[in-house]
Amino acid sequence: MPTKLEHLRNLLGEVFDLHATAAVLEWDQQVNMPRGGAANRAAALSTISRLAHETFVSDAMGAALEAAADEARDLDPDSDDARLVRKARRDYDKARRVPPDYVAEFSRATSLAHEAWERARPANDFASFRPHLETVFRLRRTYADFFAPYAHRYDPLLDDFEPGLTTPQVRAVFDELRPRQVALVRAIVEGGRPVDNSLMRRGYDVDLQWAFGLDVARAFGYDFERGRQDKSAHPFTTRFGLGDVRITTRLYPHLLSSSILSTMHETGHALYDQGSAPELDRTPLLGGSSLVIHESQSRLWENMVGRSLPFWKAFFPRLRELFPQQLADVDVETFHRAMNKVEPSFIRIEADEATYNLHIMLRFDLELAITEDALSIADLPAAWNDKMQEYLGLTPPNDTNGVMQDVHWSGGILGYFPTYALGNLVAAQLWERINADLPDLSRQIERAQFADLLGWLRTHIHRHGSKFDADELLQRVVGGGLSAGPYLRYLETKYDEIYGLH
Ligand code: ZN
Repeated sequence: MPTKLEHLRNLLGEVFDLHATAAVLEWDQQVNMPRGGAANRAAALSTISRLAHETFVSDAMGAALEAAADEARDLDPDSDDARLVRKARRDYDKARRVPPDYVAEFSRATSLAHEAWERARPANDFASFRPHLETVFRLRRTYADFFAPYAHRYDPLLDDFEPGLTTPQVRAVFDELRPRQVALVRAIVEGGRPVDNSLMRRGYDVDLQWAFGLDVARAFGYDFERGRQDKSAHPFTTRFGLGDVRITTRLYPHLLSSSILSTMHETGHALYDQGSAPELDRTPLLGGSSLVIHESQSRLWENMVGRSLPFWKAFFPRLRELFPQQLADVDVETFHRAMNKVEPSFIRIEADEATYNLHIMLRFDLELAITEDALSIADLPAAWNDKMQEYLGLTPPNDTNGVMQDVHWSGGILGYFPTYALGNLVAAQLWERINADLPDLSRQIERAQFADLLGWLRTHIHRHGSKFDADELLQRVVGGGLSAGPYLRYLETKYDEIYGLH
């Protein structure tokens, strides 16, 4: 006779399996599927999503949760089981508010919207994407309304990715960041010592770029026995369980930095997912605490490590071996500066660290306006271009490089973008703490040694999975909540050195 907690774990395991199955189908859709498969895949994903939802919100699950909560009452509140019951209960109460018909409709609409986006983006054809986007945003407004009353209609959307985070909190942090980031970018563009990154566009064989990316991922500690890398239009990380955490990248012969940074970024996500304690596998506690913490991990490896001089002291010789002609006249300091060139640009995922958060603030403003019914989808491309001008001083030449550049909206993912910017802040908070705990870290990185860094992250962050929410985790690790100070310090110090601002 299983205990009540074992019974709950079994039921939650089935829901986990259904989500994992959907994730395999989604991965395949983005990596392998022929275009003709779109309608069949949309139907399959819709069925699986509905089954996962129905299993999770069933009365049987409700009863299992009640019974397990009784059994868990005397456990240490930080134990796996107590946390499992708490997390599952919270997710259950949220999911019960969403009708199964909505889940199926949303899944079908977003599968089709994703296909429409894949066709419309390269063709610069917003008109064909527009009806799909209208459906997706309408469905997200409907979703938010399942959680009424709320202080702001955007709050339930944020809460799905960052439990407890509210619209006013995001506004407050962005209001603190925006003037300092805009001022920093202006100081660099107007008064900084010029940085030339034209060497990135010298034409780099994509197979060799691929090989270099794999070397870096392996050196960071990504376990290829439990993962793999593939190519997709938009890089992402996905997990089907602790034994299978995959990443994707994309490669451009004329933008060397892009694939390197993308692989480092996704590796950071994958290291987090591969680092959960084994006891958390096949439960809702597997994987990251929240998207902000998840993004802090990808950013830490991509930016704090991957754009640093110590990292390139270790890896530039290998890169020059692969590309002896293109890099013959380049030294490591020049390459490091080129990796850190600040230049307002159109594409978020290729943005440097100084301008990146401005891309996020733009998307936050627009999502908020649409959610509030203050902006129509028809007016979205123009609104996008106006904001680009306001924040970055640029107007995109077309919608391909403007409003249609990101995959998120086609997938119905709203309330997600702020977590990228907040992840940058958390990465800097953690980086200060890590360097205090590991005073030898930059010398280790110079020798391509990442075991202590990964070990620190495993101990303090990864192994907990989602047992603790972002705020709890930060309190435990840095002794305070989300803060913009360390990130602004990090940026200003770094660019002072690279651009000779003082
Ligand atoms: Zn990411």
